[in-house]
Amino acid sequence: MAEIRNHLLCELPLAVRAIVTAEMTELTLRPGDVLQRQGDPVLRSIFIETGVVAQFRLLDDGARVEASLVGREGLVGIGAGATAFTEAQVQAGGSGLAIDADRLRLLAARYPPLADVLTRYGAYLVDEARMNAVCNAAHAMEQRLAKWLLRFHDRSEGPSLVFTQEFASEMLGVQRTSLTAAIGRLADQGLLVTGRGGVRLQNLAGLRAVACECYRNVEERLPEMGLPEAAERGACPAA
Ligand SMILES: [Zn+2]
Repeated sequence: MAEIRNHLLCELPLAVRAIVTAEMTELTLRPGDVLQRQGDPVLRSIFIETGVVAQFRLLDDGARVEASLVGREGLVGIGAGATAFTEAQVQAGGSGLAIDADRLRLLAARYPPLADVLTRYGAYLVDEARMNAVCNAAHAMEQRLAKWLLRFHDRSEGPSLVFTQEFASEMLGVQRTSLTAAIGRLADQGLLVTGRGGVRLQNLAGLRAVACECYRNVEERLPEMGLPEAAERGACPAA
């Protein structure tokens, strides 16, 4: 495996990284692919190399509300053998490195740097979930939309984000009409342009000014945990 882009794997010492990645298989992530079903046992862990995966909770009434967006900063499938709490579906296509979840647990028990990086990422996820709870209770929809777009962008390869407004409104838990109106207001301010199947971000600084503090607080939590920011792109250093 020549080039690795996943930040968690990049954090590993070269020797450990080689051992762990030797047990992984490359996986193509196509938009719409379901990587993990809510309620199924967690059998594999997928370290995201490129692309963006939405993790959402399916509610009894059929609604689906986003819990997190995962890209190169993280992985899908934590907790071997446990029941998955959320559904994981590819939003932007890319690739990942998959490993049997139980095998990952055994490797983490054997190699402390791997256990350490997984622990730090797990702690970040807890804080991200706490921040989301605060955000949903405290912040206006337009602020949350700007935050969502920035988080999506940080994990993508460029400024064009592919999604349907129906999907975004579901993920944010808002009415489709209010979502459309909010996207229109951001477009009127020149922060983005809408197109077929998504948006193209035009002014990141302007979007950051609209987004609530949760965007900054959650993204900064990664370096505070000793992990690279999600927006950092490129392959990890060879040594
Ligand atoms: Zn917020």
